[in-house]
Amino acid sequence: MLVCKGMQQLKIFDGHNDVLFRLYLKNKKNAYLDFIQGDNEGHLDLPRMKQSGFQGGFFAIYVPSPEVGVVDSDKPVKYDEMEKDEYSLPLPELIGADIALPVVIRKISLLSEIEKNSQGQVKVCLTGEDLENSFKHNVLSIIMHIEGAECIDENFYNLEALYRSGLRSIGPVWSRPTIFGEGVPFAFPQSPDTGGGLTDHGIELIKHCNNLNLIVDNSHLNEKGFWDIAKYSHHPLVATHSNSHTLCPHTRNLTNRQLDAIKETQGMVGVNFAPAFLRQDGKMLADTNIQIIVDHFKYLVDYLGEDHVGFGSDFDGAMMPKDLNCVTEMPKLIELMQNQGFDLSLMNKICHQNWLSLIKKILK
Ligand SMILES: [Zn+2]
Repeated sequence: MLVCKGMQQLKIFDGHNDVLFRLYLKNKKNAYLDFIQGDNEGHLDLPRMKQSGFQGGFFAIYVPSPEVGVVDSDKPVKYDEMEKDEYSLPLPELIGADIALPVVIRKISLLSEIEKNSQGQVKVCLTGEDLENSFKHNVLSIIMHIEGAECIDENFYNLEALYRSGLRSIGPVWSRPTIFGEGVPFAFPQSPDTGGGLTDHGIELIKHCNNLNLIVDNSHLNEKGFWDIAKYSHHPLVATHSNSHTLCPHTRNLTNRQLDAIKETQGMVGVNFAPAFLRQDGKMLADTNIQIIVDHFKYLVDYLGEDHVGFGSDFDGAMMPKDLNCVTEMPKLIELMQNQGFDLSLMNKICHQNWLSLIKKILK
């Protein structure tokens, strides 16, 4: 077990990962075993998470655009384009529930197989209390999240089935437009105010989320969509994997005005480790010093206070800085933060307590 500098290992709950997408791309029946036994590929698997104190998180279900196909391991985001001084990548077309739902069902099945075959090491949590108990007992504690609500039909006929399957968190968009709203293109330097807000269906979706006590994620939404959620949601505002727009003026990041609203509602921001959302020059380069993650934490803790910031890694969903290219490197980041004045109480808040408190407020 990795232990930081004579200190006890801190337990981590993380705002966003895409390991289910990585496993789905293998296109094989027993991909769940690769996760449980550890395939040592990508950024995450169960043995490496356990070794690192990574004890839980939002597990995203993402649907690739059909034109990208399942053989392309990257989301339709071109990293080489994101090495330029300025860029604005076009977004794929909207996809319908008829295409998205079978993919989502396969990923839910994959997650269920992981849980069922884990011999009690993994649990998909349904309430805040559930999460707290499972986390306390060192079980990998998962909140099922959809990154883009394409699988939900315009009449919301299948929302109840998704809820019953364990879905507890919804991002109305993954950048690509949905019938619920528009997301941000991957653009730098640019404001997140890139288009229209939620549609009427989007407003209805938020009302359903309020009624079912589902978490709504603002990461990937444009600014107008964010303000619509602020208007219609009864819950604290959450951005599971976004950073400060002041430090890195990328569309995927949050302006100070948005941070004010998150603070006002006692919400949360999960800090994303992808270089393009961290660096002042917006470049997606693995050759990025992880100090810049600490800088975003300093800014956000300063701005929002100690109780509203956590991790939102984007492991297995984005490029990582070269020194953080696997979950087993997390203790290195934690140690760097501790060496720069983040004391044990604050580190415990950032590592898991803030996420757990937020989830407990919403998932009743
Ligand atoms: Zn994302």
